[in-house]
Amino acid sequence: MNYRHHFHAGNFADVVKHVLLLGLLESLCRKDTPFCYIDTHAGCGLYDLGASEAQRTLEFKSGLARVKTASTDNMPGWVSQYQKAVAAMQVERSGFFYPGSPWLALHTMRPQDRALLMELHPEDAGTLKKYLSRHENVSIHARDAYEGLTALIPPKEKRGLVLIDPPYEEERDDYAPVVELLQKAHAKWPTGMYAVWFPIKDHHAITRFYRRLRNTGIPKMLTTELCVLPADNQLGLNGTGMIIVNPPWKFSDTAFTTLQWLKKVLTDHPQSSMKVEWLTGEADAAPKKMPVDKFAE
Ligand code: SAM
Repeated sequence: MNYRHHFHAGNFADVVKHVLLLGLLESLCRKDTPFCYIDTHAGCGLYDLGASEAQRTLEFKSGLARVKTASTDNMPGWVSQYQKAVAAMQVERSGFFYPGSPWLALHTMRPQDRALLMELHPEDAGTLKKYLSRHENVSIHARDAYEGLTALIPPKEKRGLVLIDPPYEEERDDYAPVVELLQKAHAKWPTGMYAVWFPIKDHHAITRFYRRLRNTGIPKMLTTELCVLPADNQLGLNGTGMIIVNPPWKFSDTAFTTLQWLKKVLTDHPQSSMKVEWLTGEADAAPKKMPVDKFAE
């Protein structure tokens, strides 16, 4: 486990992921009934952008810095919420801090809601506990998401969101472990909402990822992509994606206009791109019995 999110906090991929996350949480808050937020790869909860890791890469300049200085004209609602949350975080810590997904969720949740956070890296799990365990209704598990998620679902609230945000070290090979995790989780809790973040580095790998996802037979699967560089650029992270299973009503329309706005702010590249597309619809429910690794190709 070499991945440390400190180097990447607040980059363009974090911004897009966190804006969409706030959109999903906002939809859950529309009903008074409690929900459960589950973060399978929670990280540290918050990140000091003044510390040496963030200062070495300056990745937040490709994301947070651009959104912070963008004109508020026509700013989508989810982005305004994101800006407010980042500002609240910086007041809370009185410094140049960036909120991770668990902090954003706890900031949005109501007293009746609950959060379950998993983080396998012992140091990051310790930091997460230090920063967030004072919140009520939060349980922090120093645990492997690949066994922990299916053990913890369905939650007693029977409504909620699972964010699956792995570092893509072991998951690099066509993202098969992530598809398998999603398939197992969906079999245990088919009505839960799932948001799976993925990096876009090679568009052939993404095509194979989508094929694996379609072959799971999971219905109502939406994909969102924003590429700040051409999708087949060989240099590194070209784009950021998120799969959403059981998205809220009209989520795809708002996601489309939000990503359009974010694309203009986050990149000047003429071959940048974005998409919001259904991978499977409601009618595609076709439970398959084959193990997920047989679905490739
Ligand atoms: N979700 C966080 C956010 O948006 O602020 C960022 C998470 S970061 C991309 C991925 C995290 O997953 C890292 O902190 C890493 O230590 C942790 N991790 C890696 N493998 C894991 C596993 N099998 N189970 C749980 N956590 C894991």
